[in-house]
Amino acid sequence: MMREGTSVTIEGVTAGYGRGHVLESISLSIEPGEMICLLGPSGCGKSTLLRVLAGLHPQEPGAGEIRLSGRIVNQLPAELRRTAMVFQRPQLFPWLSVAGNIGFGLKMQKLPPDLIRQKVEEALHLVQLEGYAARRPDELSGGQAQRVALARALVTTPDLLLLDEPFSALDENLRGEMRHLVRQLQRELHLTTIFVTHDQTEAAILADRIALLLDGRLAQFDPPRQFFTAPNSREVARFFGWQLLERPDGTLALRPELIRLRLPSDSPDPLCQDPLHGSILTVTDLGLRITSVVQLDTGQLIEVAEDGPRPVSPMPGSRVRLDYPPQAIVHFTEP
Ligand code: ADP
Ligand code: MG
Repeated sequence: MMREGTSVTIEGVTAGYGRGHVLESISLSIEPGEMICLLGPSGCGKSTLLRVLAGLHPQEPGAGEIRLSGRIVNQLPAELRRTAMVFQRPQLFPWLSVAGNIGFGLKMQKLPPDLIRQKVEEALHLVQLEGYAARRPDELSGGQAQRVALARALVTTPDLLLLDEPFSALDENLRGEMRHLVRQLQRELHLTTIFVTHDQTEAAILADRIALLLDGRLAQFDPPRQFFTAPNSREVARFFGWQLLERPDGTLALRPELIRLRLPSDSPDPLCQDPLHGSILTVTDLGLRITSVVQLDTGQLIEVAEDGPRPVSPMPGSRVRLDYPPQAIVHFTEP
């Protein structure tokens, strides 16, 4: 089932629902076989972009181009685009068996029954559900039902797999397992995939590159680590948990994991040019991770995340100094 892989080029795509634009001139290029996480807060336009790509929602007439392996698909109806979608809910037909659900699209295409059976078997094997062909949807767990939805998407051998928050209804352990399955399959099949999530950790675990969408605009498109080392704007930094301090000369963004809490009497860190001073407001000691909120003498609040365990946790009310190495900060000076 190994394929060449499909490239996706989105150029200046704008879309909305009548009043105003939900997506404002989105441009991004995706390599064949790449796993992209489309990340952003609720309402920023992630599902809209997936629907536009699948041909299920119109883009503004004349605004932008979508190309799959170089071919413009703007005018192509959904059923001819060779994309497949998986949603948060599996949306299985309750009256059909697992095999009936997975093979439904192939049956509509009037493929011979033997071929359908063979393809359904292959798809069940991919999602590790051999032996489940005859089950009804109400005999499946949430995770199994979502595997069936994934098999139903894969059985059509799509050029582009679109997943819209597919695991957000599952519990945390299961979510980890399902992520692993999707990542492994998409690598094996060299299947270009766009995975929508609002969870930055999920995006960082899964993605070759993260496309961060803020308020209908592509804010940054980079490998995950860049968002933790080189956010390109205050908004991106804020979304990725950087602590922002407003200063007369601009905004200082600090990485909370790299800040060190020190007592005022501790010897100064030679690498830290400009330590901050304040008092501890709250401490959350989770053993391996200790998160403290510090009120700086300027009044601003800042969060510090330290590795634990520590013999003694800092006490609320204590005076502290915050040291940080140069790589812990990014300066934004433009307005
Ligand atoms: P996300 O998936 O990132 O949460 P959506 O793409 O679903 O965001 O929605 C983006 C914006 O478009 C939101 O403000 C939402 O209210 C609006 N929207 C989504 N679907 C519709 C619709 N069918 N009609 C009108 N507005 C919509
Ligand atoms: Mg959505």
